[in-house]
Amino acid sequence: MSLDKLALLVAEAAMRRAVGLNYKLPGVPAGVRRGVERVVERLASELAEPASGSGLRCRLCGRGPYTPTGLLLHLRRVHRDQVARRAAELLAAELLATHR
Ligand SMILES: [Zn+2]
Repeated sequence: MSLDKLALLVAEAAMRRAVGLNYKLPGVPAGVRRGVERVVERLASELAEPASGSGLRCRLCGRGPYTPTGLLLHLRRVHRDQVARRAAELLAAELLATHR
């Protein structure tokens, strides 16, 4: 699997995780799965935060509040490329840190 493809997979997983949905990582080899999951958790924490009252706010641009589904759609539509670039950055750092 190429890093680009993995970054897209991780971006989608992190966007789902950020709004409280489960995610899958199809095709990710067992040997790197834990590291990839750490990246998903880290990236997810950078995408959403609770809004005042109820709902979720986008941490990348401050818009909200959204419902979970609303924020997921917003992240996919507006921030997909940015999230994928950040995923690639975090993946590179994770792989370098764990395979020295
Ligand atoms: Zn946003």
